[in-house]
Amino acid sequence: MSRPVALVTGAGRGIGRAIALAFAAQGYAVGVNDIDAASAQAVAAEIVRQGNESLALAGDVSDPPTVARLVAETVATFGGLDALVNNAGIEPRASILAMDPAEWDEVQAVNLRGVFLGTQAAGRVMRATGHGSIVNISSIAGKATPLPMRSAYAASKAGVVGFTKEAAREFAAYGVRVNAVCPGVIATEMTAHARSDPAQLSAWLAGIPLGRLGEPEDVAHLVVFLCSDAAAYITGQAIHVDGGRVMA
Ligand code: NAP
Repeated sequence: MSRPVALVTGAGRGIGRAIALAFAAQGYAVGVNDIDAASAQAVAAEIVRQGNESLALAGDVSDPPTVARLVAETVATFGGLDALVNNAGIEPRASILAMDPAEWDEVQAVNLRGVFLGTQAAGRVMRATGHGSIVNISSIAGKATPLPMRSAYAASKAGVVGFTKEAAREFAAYGVRVNAVCPGVIATEMTAHARSDPAQLSAWLAGIPLGRLGEPEDVAHLVVFLCSDAAAYITGQAIHVDGGRVMA
C-alpha cells in the first residue's frame, strides 16, 4: 500500500507545524499550507530534509478558489488525500462594544468558513475514495471556557464544533470521519504575549491540573491518532487537549 497523504492548513508555525511534522514522522506525504508562503516553504523543506515527501501550499483558507486549489494540488502531487486538518486560525482581541464588524467577519471567515471550505473540498475527494479523516481545530473557548475579549473567536470556535458534528453525520455514509480538537493554552506565537505576563501565566497554571501549558506536539499527537485506523470508531467528537483544565 502506498503512503497516506495529509493536508494541514496554517502549518507554517505553531500547532499546524507540529501536526505536519507528526504526520511526516508517521510516513505521510504532507501538504503544508500557510498564508505566509515563506513559512510554508520552510516547514515543507524541513520535512523533505527528514526524508519524507512534502509540498508547500501558500494561500488563504477563507478564499474558496484558493482552498479548492490547495486540495487539488495535494491530490495531483501525491495521488490522494487521506487526512485534512483545518488548523489555520486567528485570534484578535476586542471587547464586544468596541469591535469593528469587519473584524468580526474576518475571524468568522478564517476560523469558520475556512473549516467549511476545506471540509467541502476534501470531502468531495474522500467521498470518491470512500475513506478519509478530517480534524478541525476548535478551542476550549468554543466549547467550555469563554476567554475575555475573544467573543468573535469563541463564536467561531463554537461554530467549528457544531459544524464538525454535522459534517460527521453527513460524511459517515462515505466512510469519512470528522472530529474536532479543543486545545487549552498551548505555547505558540498566538499565546506568546499573554504568556509573557506573569500574573496571566500563574492564573492559567493554577487552573490546569497537569500543571503546565500545552506544547504543540500535545495537540499533534491527538490529531494524528484521530486520523489513524486506531480511531476508526471515533467520529463527531470535540476532544479537549488541555491538561485537564476542562473536564466535560
Ligand atoms: P499561530 O501560532 O498564530 O499559527 C497560526 C498559523 O496560521 C500562522 O502561521 C498563520 O500565518 C496561519 N494563518 C493565519 N491565517 C491564515 C489563513 N487565512 N490562511 C492560512 N493560514 C493562515 O496559532 P497556533 O497557536 O498554532 O493555533 C493554531 C490553531 O489552534 C488555531 O486555529 C487556533 O485558534 C487554535 N488554538 C490555539 C490555541 C493556543 O493556545 N495556541 C488554543 C486553542 C486553539 P500568519 O502568521 O502569517 O498569519
